[in-house]
Amino acid sequence: MTSYLLGLTPEEITQWFQKEGEAEFRARQLVEWLYQKNETEFSKMTNFSKALREKLASNWQMSSMTLKKLQESDDRETIKFLWQLHDGNLVESVLIMSDQRRTVCVSSQVGCPARCAFCASGQKGLFRNLEVDEIFAQVYLINNWLEKKGERVSHVVYMGMGEPFRNYDAVVRSIQLLIHPDMLGLSQRRITVSTVGVIEGIQKFSEEDFKVNLVLSLHAPNQKLRQKIIPYARQYALDDILQAMFEYAKKTKRDVTFEYTLLSGINDNEQEAHELVKLLKEKQCTVNLIPYNPVQGLRLKRPDPLAVRRFREILTQGDIVNTCRYTKGDDIAAACGQLVLHEQQSMPAKALHVLQNTP
Ligand code: SAH
Repeated sequence: MTSYLLGLTPEEITQWFQKEGEAEFRARQLVEWLYQKNETEFSKMTNFSKALREKLASNWQMSSMTLKKLQESDDRETIKFLWQLHDGNLVESVLIMSDQRRTVCVSSQVGCPARCAFCASGQKGLFRNLEVDEIFAQVYLINNWLEKKGERVSHVVYMGMGEPFRNYDAVVRSIQLLIHPDMLGLSQRRITVSTVGVIEGIQKFSEEDFKVNLVLSLHAPNQKLRQKIIPYARQYALDDILQAMFEYAKKTKRDVTFEYTLLSGINDNEQEAHELVKLLKEKQCTVNLIPYNPVQGLRLKRPDPLAVRRFREILTQGDIVNTCRYTKGDDIAAACGQLVLHEQQSMPAKALHVLQNTP
């Protein structure tokens, strides 16, 4: 079991109190401190005896992470949080403030195994999975940060660094913590998991008792082109992925969303738009287009606005519901796909070793 408190449910906290011979109502008080009063320092939990505060502090740490850097975009709508983990690894989360929404984009892994051609997160491969408390604490700590301004996290998207279905158990458990009524109490409909298309993950996720949104990173209308853009896609046939996605939708009564990063001259041509219409015809789904956000060191180009418009027109004429997500936070490299381990020089020797040996 974790030694980090932010990875535990109230039920597990109660069990620990029982095991220690402490009164059960004390466990409830601790949960209140954490999730109603947003207090993370034992020394400030004033209705506990000094002995209990010391006992808690000697048995538990809150989380594995400390905030290393906070960067705000010029328009102040995007805030990037850089966390240092107990082993020195670094991970990022992004808070996106638009209208009433306060969306946290969480990372599920340090690095990413998928290595999509256009994405910064996977350029150096996977370092390690995040633990449950490391995923959950990203949201909890950002929520505490927002609460100081009288606001709260309203939405969570698993679209930061990593492939959520390659860290399945921790991701599922972190969702259970996010939606727990005595913890953050987030609505499942406001949680979105994005996958590159790990079929067994999608299928297993359908068996969970969730009503969470599931998004597929599609990026191409056929297997051949998709494999070029997403090397990982070689492991899975596109038709099988789509079937698993629509089965998830049927079971959960959630709509299917496809992410499609538009790369100039690669997948943004009229031909691909027509092919996409054919692929998704009469399926209940939405295509979310994202013009490529430049990543340092990659020789890809953002499409011309005219090409984006033409692509959308073809989808719309083909009755494919579509949206286009405009860049947010690119001045602080917090936009989609720009999350990367910038601060490599401060990494521990072990992490650098992995980095050098990743194929
Ligand atoms: N591994 C998961 C979740 C992380 S990526 C997945 O593949 O879905 C989430 C989304 O970020 C991708 O769907 C892609 O649309 C977007 N993305 C990544 N890099 C990008 C870039 N450079 N420009 C625009 N979108 C990008």
